[in-house]
Amino acid sequence: MSTKILLANPRGFCAGVDRAIDVVEQAVKKFGAPIYVRNEVVHNKTVVEELRSKGVVFVKELSEVPESSHVIFSAHGVSAEVEQEAESLNLIAYDATCPLVTKVHNEVQRHARAGRDILLIGHAGHPEVEGTMGRHFPLNTSSKIYLVQDQDEAESIQILQPDNLAYVTQTTLSLDDTQSIVSTLYRRFPNISKPKSNDICYATQNRQDAVKQLALETDFIIVIGSSNSSNSNRLKELAEKCGVPSVLIDGVEELDFDDLTKYKSIGVTAGASAPESIVQEVISNLCSSLNATAKELGENKEDIFFKLPPELR
Ligand code: SF4
Repeated sequence: MSTKILLANPRGFCAGVDRAIDVVEQAVKKFGAPIYVRNEVVHNKTVVEELRSKGVVFVKELSEVPESSHVIFSAHGVSAEVEQEAESLNLIAYDATCPLVTKVHNEVQRHARAGRDILLIGHAGHPEVEGTMGRHFPLNTSSKIYLVQDQDEAESIQILQPDNLAYVTQTTLSLDDTQSIVSTLYRRFPNISKPKSNDICYATQNRQDAVKQLALETDFIIVIGSSNSSNSNRLKELAEKCGVPSVLIDGVEELDFDDLTKYKSIGVTAGASAPESIVQEVISNLCSSLNATAKELGENKEDIFFKLPPELR
């Protein structure tokens, strides 16, 4: 009997990633190489390598960028301090920050202006969290911002203004884990304000819903995405929480096809920064190596599109 391969829907690129890659490609077209990008524009090895081959130079710090060069901030967003640094170094900056991350930045600034304390639910060290924490930095108010990473921290964190408090979240978290953290915060701080609309973005939510569906119908799940991609890691964790073993891979060369023969049905999905070309390469190799047939599970109904910055349209 041949192996059944099911593809999750939706999967792969979201509107924010599409836009961020477009920002970089348009900048290369318009101004020529080299174009500098602070951090990986999106967390995907293939995307980064392809852009590098077009003359894009990725840097960790703006001090590595020659004066008066064009520099792009990644989809994860940057702190106000980084924007100021770009100005002081005479760099010409373009912003590839996803508009849904900018929405969280705006919430932080709104709460800070109102003098509220803010809890950011997210993972320390992730560039989005660094950028969002750093949106609070320049505002001279009584407000403080705190990071909460998990349930234990939600239970123990001490806040200066527990009755004048709001929370925001990183956009790519696990919906279920965040819900438990939020419930703990409500129990400890009953007056806490929630975001006007969910900060976990539509793409993260839809890809997690699709993995839950995939887990009902398969006995192994392949998640395509890079190891530093937050939303891809959440998909792998979610598959495993649903009781289905899972693997996170950058590309087909990481798969052990002999081992895969033990599964009757295999699910395939991709994180929001993983290109569809890699998904198709994985599928075609699975089909030929396992004598498998592939089928889409549901359909992709996403039709969200974010415009480029006016200077790059
Ligand atoms: Fe934007 Fe969500 Fe995509 Fe991140 S995963 S770039 S927040 S749409």
